[in-house]
Amino acid sequence: MSGGTGGGGGNIAGGAVDGGGGAGGWGFDTRKVRAGYDPTEHNHAVSVPIYQTTAYTLETVARADALFAFEDEDPLYTRLSNPTVDVLERRVTALHEGAAASVALASGMAAVSYALLNAAGRGGHILTTCRLYGGTVDAFSHIYPELGIAIDVVEDADDPASFERAIGPRTRAIFVEGITNPLVTVTDLAALAEVAHRHGILLIVDNTLATPCLLDPFEFGADVVVYSATKALSGHGNVIAGLVVESGRFDYGSGHFPQFTEPHWFLRDENDVPRNHLQLFPDTPFTGRLRALYLNYLGAALGPFDAYLILLGIETLTERVTKQVANAEALVRYLQSNPHVAWVAYPTVGGGPSTSPPAASSAALAQKYLLRGGGSIVSFGFAGSEEQRRRFLDSVGLFSYQANIGDARSLIINPAQTTHIELTHEQRELCGLLPETIRLSLGLETASDLIADLEQAFTRAF
Ligand SMILES: *Cc1c(COP(=O)(O)O)cnc(C)c1O
Repeated sequence: MSGGTGGGGGNIAGGAVDGGGGAGGWGFDTRKVRAGYDPTEHNHAVSVPIYQTTAYTLETVARADALFAFEDEDPLYTRLSNPTVDVLERRVTALHEGAAASVALASGMAAVSYALLNAAGRGGHILTTCRLYGGTVDAFSHIYPELGIAIDVVEDADDPASFERAIGPRTRAIFVEGITNPLVTVTDLAALAEVAHRHGILLIVDNTLATPCLLDPFEFGADVVVYSATKALSGHGNVIAGLVVESGRFDYGSGHFPQFTEPHWFLRDENDVPRNHLQLFPDTPFTGRLRALYLNYLGAALGPFDAYLILLGIETLTERVTKQVANAEALVRYLQSNPHVAWVAYPTVGGGPSTSPPAASSAALAQKYLLRGGGSIVSFGFAGSEEQRRRFLDSVGLFSYQANIGDARSLIINPAQTTHIELTHEQRELCGLLPETIRLSLGLETASDLIADLEQAFTRAF
């Protein structure tokens, strides 16, 4: 696609990577500060400008015709595309090897729900595991069935054959987290991609915890990747946002995805001939359809200022994640030697309650998927009474007690009683989420200060 005229471009098929800025041959760290932005198209502004505008002048009736027939990719209305948001989409696309396009959305939940609606709307079926973000579990239990999308949790999340057995004629996708929340197990993406593709269905990966800095799910066969950009991707605890990224390589014409191949009511060409999504978006069918339908009509658009904040965060993604991994590893060592800790879970180390997969298997998967580190989340089992656990949480000072992860500040929470409280007892049992679980999200502070904070909280608790 073109870089657009003067404004970064990208109407309905925006977010493809080959627009302004170019990413050819650059390393990850160069792409994270440069890709998808060409200053010469924006008055030579060094920092990406915030296009705080609702609409864009149509200028002439002929140009309006082209824009409304999707023949011209210039922006039209900010719900559908905006030059600042467009740079973010191109940059996130460029952070993945072999990704074709992205759509930025107003939250991670919007990214998850639009991706699943796009894959499985009109009576489809999704296979997943019990190891998911709490909000996703709630939506799967209560919202998607209302929308006619069936969700099934497979029997054994660690066994690809368990997924394969559960695939039926209406199954459209396998949905998993790369590093799971909150027990930080590692998912065998390549094995699941093989199962999915054998049956002509999608592998959709929520890569929020790892970020593209630690894991590129497309390298292992994922077809669609979703993010809560609220977390480590933006990294400063000041924005709510999400993204959907696609490989552009999946075959939606196989018969499993009629919603992509049937002519669509509003995608008519200038002669009023109806087209389908594959005709209109041959290189980016998933994000093209998602933008044209779900972003356009359900409307969870990301504002330009929020896109700017995420772009700023991404500029230091590697530096932040590297420091967070070092802090996480230091905290793992401290917790492993602490008598008040029953178990410690961290992707590259394995570990966890006895109900979760064996430490060795998670650590072995981390050797394949997480070569640059296990991320910023460490969970552990508090070995004490409920009363002592409450006193421990009330005693932390430097760690902030809050329902968020991936911030520059270190955070702490008791997921079973907060973020995952809506789960039934059975769901918590299934994913191994015990009441004693404490989740840490490591920030950028000095490791010894963080250890000292936990140490004084343990002392007060006992
Ligand atoms: C936070 C989170 C979400 C939801 O994102 P929001 O930006 O809060 O809507 C989805 N998945 C994972 C893994 C998350 O951590």
